[in-house]
Amino acid sequence: MWDASKCDLCGDCLVKCRYVDYDKDKAASDIKLLMDGKAADILDRCITCNACFQNCPTGADPSDLIYKMQEKIGTGSIVAAFKPFIDAVAKAFEDEGKGGLIIEGDPDKPALSFDSFVFKQFPEGTLESRMFKGMTMVRGKKYASLVGMGHMGGASLAERYGRKVIEGLAALGKEIVYFHNEGYVLADVKARELGIPVPYPYRHLFEYMGDYLRRNPNGITKLNKKVAYQPNCAVRWIPKQDVWLHEIFELIGVKRVSRKYEGLNALCCGGPALAVNRELATNMQSDNIRDAIDNHAEALITICPMCDAVLRDPTAKAGLPQIFITDLCRMALGEVSWPVQFKS
Ligand code: SF4
Ligand code: SF4
Repeated sequence: MWDASKCDLCGDCLVKCRYVDYDKDKAASDIKLLMDGKAADILDRCITCNACFQNCPTGADPSDLIYKMQEKIGTGSIVAAFKPFIDAVAKAFEDEGKGGLIIEGDPDKPALSFDSFVFKQFPEGTLESRMFKGMTMVRGKKYASLVGMGHMGGASLAERYGRKVIEGLAALGKEIVYFHNEGYVLADVKARELGIPVPYPYRHLFEYMGDYLRRNPNGITKLNKKVAYQPNCAVRWIPKQDVWLHEIFELIGVKRVSRKYEGLNALCCGGPALAVNRELATNMQSDNIRDAIDNHAEALITICPMCDAVLRDPTAKAGLPQIFITDLCRMALGEVSWPVQFKS
C-alpha cells in the first residue's frame, strides 16, 4: 500500500520502468504530482506490470499510488477499456450475495478458489484432475481476489470489498487453496495492510500441488523437459513463490531455463498493455517468446488465465508450446500428454 512517508522522490521507480523513458527529474516530478493528487503523464503510459513495487528501494509502493491515481483521474485507456467490467464487479458486491458459484466437495477437503474466472478459462479437465478430487470449487465475482482489479482501473475495490470476499470464503468453513495469485495476495498481503482478519487456513496453489506431488511420488513420471516460466504481475508481491515453483519443477523433472526476462526483469504478458499501446504489447510478447526459444525452452509455462489467453496465439505462431502450470503437473501424472505443436 502506498506510503508517502517512505518516498524520498529518488525517481528510481519510473527511471527503471521499462515501458517509459524517463530521466530522474521527470520520474520524481511525476511521482510528486501523483502524491499531490494531480494527473501525471505516467498514468496513461503505465501498463500496470507491478515492477516498480519491487524497484522502489524504500518500500513506498509506487505501483499502488499509480493504480489509485489511474482510477481517481479516470481518463486513461486502461480505465476506459475495463470500466464496464469493474462496474459489474462493484455491483455484484453492492447486490449482497450475488455472483458466486459453489460446487460442493467432500466435507473434510479444502476448497479451491478460482477467483472471478469462469472454469472454462482453465485447461479442459482441470476440475477432474486427481490433484483436486473431492475439493469444493468456488468461483465468481463474490470470490474475486479484487487485487487484480488494480490492473483494470479498479484499485479501490480491494479496500472497498476485500472484507466481504474474506468473509464469503470464511463462511465455507474450510481451508482455502488459492488457484490464482491475486487471491492469495488478498489474503496474505492486502488483508494485512487493510487490517482485515483472515480467519481460515489458506495455501497458494503451488504449495498445495507441491504437497500433493511430494505425497504421491509413485504416480509421477518425470517429464525431462526444459521450460521457460511466465510469471504474472502478482508474483512481485509473493517472491516466496519461486521456492514453491522450484520444488514442483524438481518433483516432475522439469528444468527452468535461465533467460533474460526472468525475476525482476520479467516481462508482462501484454494483457493490460494491449489497452495502452498495442505495438508495445506485441513487441514485448515477441521479445519474451524469442528469449524463451533462444534459451532452448521446450514450452512456456503460464500460471494466470489472462497471461495464458493473451500469449496463446503468439506462442502458437512461434511454434512454442504453451502449458498452464496445472496441466504441466497433470502431464507428469499421466492425465494429459505433452503438446504436439507446429509453427502455424
Ligand atoms: S516511490 Fe520509491 S522509487 Fe519512487 S520516487 Fe518514491 S522512494 Fe523513489
Ligand atoms: S507498474 Fe510497471 S509500467 Fe507501471 S510505472 Fe510501474 S514499472 Fe512502469
